[in-house]
Amino acid sequence: MDSIERSMTMTVLGSTGSIGTQALEIAEKHGIRVRALAAHSNVKLLAEQAKRCGAEYACIYREDKARELEDLLAGTDIKVLSGEEGLKQTARLKVDKMLNSVVGMVGLVPTLEAIDAGNDIALANKETLVAGGDLVNKRAAEKGVKIYPVDSEHSAIFQCLQGNKSSQLDKIILTASGGPFFGKKRSELENVTVEQALNHPNWSMGNKITIDSATLMNKGLEFIEAMHLFGVSPEQIEIVVHRQSVVHSAVQYADNSVIAQMGVPDMKIPIQYALLYPERVECPVKALSLTDYGTLTFEKPDYETFDCLTACIEAITAGGILPAAVNGANEVAVRAFLDGKIRFLDIGRLVRNALETIENRPCDSLEAVLEADREARQLTEKAIENK
Ligand code: NDP
Ligand code: MG
Repeated sequence: MDSIERSMTMTVLGSTGSIGTQALEIAEKHGIRVRALAAHSNVKLLAEQAKRCGAEYACIYREDKARELEDLLAGTDIKVLSGEEGLKQTARLKVDKMLNSVVGMVGLVPTLEAIDAGNDIALANKETLVAGGDLVNKRAAEKGVKIYPVDSEHSAIFQCLQGNKSSQLDKIILTASGGPFFGKKRSELENVTVEQALNHPNWSMGNKITIDSATLMNKGLEFIEAMHLFGVSPEQIEIVVHRQSVVHSAVQYADNSVIAQMGVPDMKIPIQYALLYPERVECPVKALSLTDYGTLTFEKPDYETFDCLTACIEAITAGGILPAAVNGANEVAVRAFLDGKIRFLDIGRLVRNALETIENRPCDSLEAVLEADREARQLTEKAIENK
């Protein structure tokens, strides 16, 4: 195992975020050689990380920060890249695996670039698959590139599929923690604050996904993500609220046997599995003690209150550009909520507005996906301005 790990190379897009920092911990522990890192604006942490892991390239998306990054890396051999072009270049660098853990639709183009370069992908950036899943799958199949899920539920499903025939898969049981507002009705959610919405009961994550977890948009995005990763229909996915986040998801086969994957709620397990697949070696997380939990509960989601979830299922059932549209609207709405411009329930209203206003059309090219995303963003920004 040691020799396999030592010879492995990777790139991390979004290295300064919640997933990125944990991935670098795993890489360091197992001696994976990190060739390049990319972040949006946090030059200080990016420079520290690049020096620590001996990266060859550090890429900062914000071009106005490139000079600062160069100063921070003065005296090293680390080359600085920047902007959209720099991000694409970073994605194309030849490695065994490119981890895409940037947040949002901005991850789509680098994912496609990495596929074109023949790099296998460890994918945390779920917005990529939601908006452009067909495109990503088609290109990956053409290039023989593999996509390893990092999202805990999808990693669980992927793990449950090992050693079995996908053709005998009956359905996927996608678990959801329910977020901080599970059990609440709409009248109780009108005035929730950003701070309350950011207070996730089980997981510590970046702000955007934490808000998505509170609205259950995250589960809607994951529903779409699962369809693209595992080739199942909407009818083959059952969402189950499981408050403890111990069962990370399960699959049911034709014989009605259900296989689940369990563990403490810690992203290092799925991150490590995606990076080192198929190896299962020591991981810096606590062992699961089922008796400490005692009781595990399973309930149905409340589709009426959490309307983002319903909107995502409707969008993927309709197909075309609508998944990209609901995703784009949500990205703008979450930003506006975090900035105090709209209220919590407005997020769902704005997502539905995009679903119902934007005319559906085929999603057969990168341009079509990007155009749908742009249209949804403009529509949502306008709706927020006119409030
Ligand atoms: P964070 O907000 O913590 O981190 C986002 C990272 O992306 C940061 O490093 C940020 O840089 C970088 N970034 C943002 N925009 C760009 C850009 N244009 N170019 C380059 N880098 C960019 O997010 P998370 O780590 O929580 O989530 C990342 C992705 O993983 C999301 O898609 C999320 O849905 C998914 N995911 C996350 C989980 C988690 O536990 N956190 C679990 C499952 C999925 P900077 O720091 O400079 O802003
Ligand atoms: Mg998840």
